Amino acid sequence: MLDAFRDADVELARRQGGLVPLAGDRSLVLPQVFGFCGGVVHALAKLNECLDRRCGRPVRLLGPVIHNDTVNQWFRRRGVDILEEDRIGDILRVGGPDDIVVIPAFGVPLELAEALAQRYPPGQIVDTTCRDVQVLWGFLAALDGPDWTVLVHGRPGHPETRATLSRALRHSRRAVVLRGAEDTDLACQALRTGAWEAVPAAQRHEREPLPPEGGPVALVNQTTMLYSETSTLAERLAAACREVNRPYRLADTVCRATQDRQDAARRICATYPDVVLVIGGRASSNTAQLYRLAEGSAPAYLIENARALSPDRVTHWLPEGGPQETPAWLPQRWRRIGLLAGASCPARDVGDVVRWFQQLCQAGAAHRGQPGPGRDKTRPNERNAEAQPERMEEGGGSDETRTRDLRRDRPAL
Ligand code: SF4
Repeated sequence: MLDAFRDADVELARRQGGLVPLAGDRSLVLPQVFGFCGGVVHALAKLNECLDRRCGRPVRLLGPVIHNDTVNQWFRRRGVDILEEDRIGDILRVGGPDDIVVIPAFGVPLELAEALAQRYPPGQIVDTTCRDVQVLWGFLAALDGPDWTVLVHGRPGHPETRATLSRALRHSRRAVVLRGAEDTDLACQALRTGAWEAVPAAQRHEREPLPPEGGPVALVNQTTMLYSETSTLAERLAAACREVNRPYRLADTVCRATQDRQDAARRICATYPDVVLVIGGRASSNTAQLYRLAEGSAPAYLIENARALSPDRVTHWLPEGGPQETPAWLPQRWRRIGLLAGASCPARDVGDVVRWFQQLCQAGAAHRGQPGPGRDKTRPNERNAEAQPERMEEGGGSDETRTRDLRRDRPAL
């Protein structure tokens, strides 16, 4: 991993089995597996290498390399020009002949990849697409015949889903994105009746006029979906295909890194933490899935970094919504806080949250005239200086207030 994203406090926590003792009987608990996955480490290393050997040439990144602002800002400071995610096609207009063009870990649509290959020699295209995403595409490329209906369990608009859709449509006539259980109900119905219009139009993609309803069906998953959900959806779609005698092929493409992080997060959530903080980029799919998993077992908040925290309120967001503030998020008598971090979250951001709690507890102990527990963590750098607790008191309000706010703030996903 790049040194810029390492964190000594997080490495210590890993060595301690994920436990960070705080004052008295208070602690933070981290899962066995969290943070950067192999695919992310690979992508960042490749982008970094290309910066080291660019010899003054512009480096154009086709959207964020991963969905994490800390990481993308760091590369921006190193001179990478990051194109807007929904305008990556502009590269064909603004890119110069000497540019180095970098494909992010999610990949890019096939048409764009082909246009780039026409325009730039291989040495000027740095492809950081994760191997697990390429395995998914390999499955689609192996579909035999054009009559397939491809169902993509994924987040519409996510760059990986867009890249996958373009490949699905190269090998089939119809591709449909299913966000979850509700869309799957509609798809099961459509497989039986042919009435695809019930699925939102933005999620239906057709390359050319379709033959009469029938033909084989394939299901793939965006690599970072909620694993437990994918198996349920797969079974329901299989049953619908059996009913109407349509061949069905499933590619179980949620990646191992996503599954491991979700399994480890589940174990943390089963220990009854008072609160779970899920740390990661707001557009990150795998982070959003950790939140969905956590919110069933404890009050959970998706935060970008420690700057979201104050003893009496937290600035967080819902996976499909905007940011919001919740007061009194920290119960007065809290004992255990779970910290989860997505595969695109740098250890440094997790470490900042750990230090925030250490400072909060030290200040609380000092306030009560007791020696502060643990190590002295008064070395705020510019990041955690911003992240220090604003008011050095523990627990911002009653549990009743917190429960009421959470109920109001959480729409169904
Ligand atoms: S989360 Fe999975 S698909 Fe995404 S970069 Fe990591 S290994 Fe690759």
